[in-house]
Amino acid sequence: MSVQSMFRLRCGQWLLATGLLLLLSGCGDADVPPTTLERVKEDGVLRVITRNSPATYFQDRNGETGFEYELVKRFAEDLGVELQIETAENLDDLFRRLNSPNGPQLSAAGLVASSGRQSQALFSHAYLEVTPQVIYRNGTPRPSNSRDLPGKHIVVLKGSSHAEQLAALQLQLPELRYEESDAVEVVDLLRMVDEGAIDLTLVDSNELAMNQVYFPNVRVGFDLDEATSLGWAVAAGEDRSLLDEVNTFLDKAQQNGTLQRLKERYYGHVDVLGYVGAYTFAKHLQARLPRYEKTFQSEAKNQGLDWRLLAAMGYQESLWQPDATSKTGVRGLMMLTQNTAQAMGVVNRLDARQSIRGGAKYIALIKQDLPADISEPDRTWFALAAYNIGIAHLGDARKLAKAEGLNPNLWLDVKKMLPRLAQKKWYSKTRYGYARGGETVHFVQNIRRYYDILTWVTQPQLEDQQVADRQLHVPAINKTPPKETLAPL
Ligand code: GLU
Repeated sequence: MSVQSMFRLRCGQWLLATGLLLLLSGCGDADVPPTTLERVKEDGVLRVITRNSPATYFQDRNGETGFEYELVKRFAEDLGVELQIETAENLDDLFRRLNSPNGPQLSAAGLVASSGRQSQALFSHAYLEVTPQVIYRNGTPRPSNSRDLPGKHIVVLKGSSHAEQLAALQLQLPELRYEESDAVEVVDLLRMVDEGAIDLTLVDSNELAMNQVYFPNVRVGFDLDEATSLGWAVAAGEDRSLLDEVNTFLDKAQQNGTLQRLKERYYGHVDVLGYVGAYTFAKHLQARLPRYEKTFQSEAKNQGLDWRLLAAMGYQESLWQPDATSKTGVRGLMMLTQNTAQAMGVVNRLDARQSIRGGAKYIALIKQDLPADISEPDRTWFALAAYNIGIAHLGDARKLAKAEGLNPNLWLDVKKMLPRLAQKKWYSKTRYGYARGGETVHFVQNIRRYYDILTWVTQPQLEDQQVADRQLHVPAINKTPPKETLAPL
C-alpha cells in the first residue's frame, strides 16, 4: 500500500470516528502531494538518467540500445508510460541531476550500490553482481594483490565506486596514489591501459566482459574486492513509491529469465568467444578489418545488406584471411565451395573482393528465397543458418519444429531443432537426413556476436569522428564521443 493511500485510510477512519467534518478539507486529495509513482503515471513519462557507454546506453543499427536501456524500457512499458532517456556527462553530473528538483526520477546507469552513495541515492534490489577488477597491460608485470598498487599510475572514473574503494585502501596503504577523471568513460580507461598510457585502472567485471573484444592487450590482474551489486536508484530524499515498483519489476525480470538473457547478450562476449577469442578478435579488428572494410561496405550495399553482417560472416569464416583454405575444399575470405563460387560468378576464390562479392550475393539470394512469412530479424538468422547448412536441412529443422508444436518461422524455436539433425532418432525421419546442426547454431550465434560488436564499434554517433580522424574502429571508439553527437533525448 502506498504511503498516500495509507494516509487517506487513516484520515477516513478518524473522520468517521469523530465526525468532525470541518477537517474534511484538511484530509482531501488536494493537500496530499502525489507520490513520485503517481506523478510518473499522471505525466505518462518516466525520466531516466544513464551513461552513454556500450554497457549502458548507445545507438546501434536499430536505434537506441544497451543493457540498461533495454531493461528500463521494459519497466516503462510495464508502467504504461513513455521512456525519456537523459545522458549524464559524468557520475557527479548524474547524481547532481538525479537530486535536482526537476531532474530525472530514476538512474539506470550500471552503478554499484556502494555505501558512499547512500547520501545521494536510494538503491533498488540488485540486478547484476559485479566484481571490481584491477586491469593491467599484457607484457607488463601482473599486479596480484593490493600491495602491488602503490607506485603505479592508476586512473579511475571520478566519483565511481572504484574511487571509493581506492580511497578506503589508501587508509591501509598511504603511499597509494590514483587519479580520478571526469572526462572519460570506462572504454577510455581500458584504451589507456591497452596503449600503455597508464599502468592500471579499475573497472567492473561486466564492463570488462563487454569491452575485452576491443582491447587486445588488457588483462585482469586481480579482483580488488568481493562481488558488489548494481542497482537502479532514485534521489536520496525521494519517497519509495517508484523504487518499490522498480523492485517488483526487477524481481520479476530475475524470475522470468529477462535479466539472464540481457546479461548473456551484452556481457556474454567472453563466455561465447572465450578470453583468447576475445583478445584475438580485438587484435584482428585492428590489424585485418581495415583492409577489407570498404569492400564489405560496397558489396553489402549492392545486395541491400548491412555491411557489418557481411564482415561478421567473413570473420566467422576465415578470421578475415583471404587465403584461408579448409580440408573440405572451401576457400577464401568467405569460405565458398567450388560450386557456390561458380554459381556466384567467382573466378578466383582467393581474391578477397571476389570472395566477398560471392558471399554477399549468395546470402542475399538465400534471404530472398526464404518463405515470405519469416520476418526480420529472424529472416537474417535463418539465412545465416542456410548459408552454413544448406536450405534443405534448414527446411528439415523447420518441419521438426512444426511437428513439436513450435513455430517454424522463429529462430528461437528452429535453433532448438537443428542439433537433432545429427541424431539418428530424428534425422532418420527427415527428408534430407544427417547434418551437423549443432555447428550451425554455433555458426549463427558467433556471427550474431561479431555483428553486435561491430555494430557498437561503428555506431552512428561515432562515424563522423572516424571519418574526420581517418582512423578506423578501435582508435575511434576509444575516445569518448563528443557530447553534442550523443543520441538525442
Ligand atoms: N560501476 C561503476 C560505478 O558504480 C561505474 C562504471 C565502471 O567503472 O565500471 O561507479
